[in-house]
Amino acid sequence: TGRGTTANLEEIVIGRCNDYIGLKNPAAGKKNCTLLWQTLKSVFASKDPCKITQDDYKPFLTMAEHDIPSGKSIFWSQTGELTRQYADIVKNVMPLESTLTGYMMNGLNWCGQRSSSELNYEVCPAWNECEENAAKSFWRSASVVYAKKASGEVKVVLNGSSQTRAFRTESIFGSIELGNLDTNRISSIQLWIMDNLSGSDKESCGVGSIAQLEIALKHKGFKFSCIDNYRPVQLIQCIWMPEHKSCNICPKN
Ligand code: NAD
Repeated sequence: TGRGTTANLEEIVIGRCNDYIGLKNPAAGKKNCTLLWQTLKSVFASKDPCKITQDDYKPFLTMAEHDIPSGKSIFWSQTGELTRQYADIVKNVMPLESTLTGYMMNGLNWCGQRSSSELNYEVCPAWNECEENAAKSFWRSASVVYAKKASGEVKVVLNGSSQTRAFRTESIFGSIELGNLDTNRISSIQLWIMDNLSGSDKESCGVGSIAQLEIALKHKGFKFSCIDNYRPVQLIQCIWMPEHKSCNICPKN
């Protein structure tokens, strides 16, 4: 079992929604945050938390939808924190977590219970405990909507030091987002392969699972390029390890 519903979920979700439409991205347009919360809560309240489908979230996701400017879509796998930090600093990319739905729900836990209309603040299913759990179905469904909207030059941030593989076909990026990218809307895809500063360089552009992804992109008809340790993102990693040799602005030869 996983952690229960985040305390004060309602206040957090409604507050984040108002913050988003009022301050963070007024271009999202007019939204009724209370109605959004009610629509969201009705998806999982009073229900078995392992029987929530992706479709169940569609009314909420449709209501929360807004434009994503061309060239701002950025996908990630095993690099969530770093990608969010990069997005918060440069502000010229908009990951799912910088859209209304992702902003409202990122980092939260939620689920209901069949026996009561109260949310379950004690326990919720763990991520892999059941396929159709309240949180996993939400992120899958939100990822479909997000990927379909991508246009222009798209970015993908992967972890070159992953203990498993940088590109996993079973991840949400590999199994959902990739398949919903539209060749007609997307002009090119840039892969950024970020190694952990103190981790091993397990995979790089053209190597291992990245090579597999590059072949898949080519087959689908996407133009793409790949950059190892894209410097602006690496400089964010450097904040925590400024003395690391990769962070040295003027390397001594
Ligand atoms: P990933 O493997 O890094 O997983 C993404 C998130 O899913 C993790 O941060 C975690 O919150 C959850 N998760 C995955 N496996 C888990 C496990 N075994 N136990 C507990 N939690 C687990 O990357 P991915 O699957 O490729 O998904 C990332 C992509 O999908 C992004 O492009 C994003 O748009 C979207 N997404 C976002 C979130 C989010 O929490 N903001 C979650 C899932 C998917």
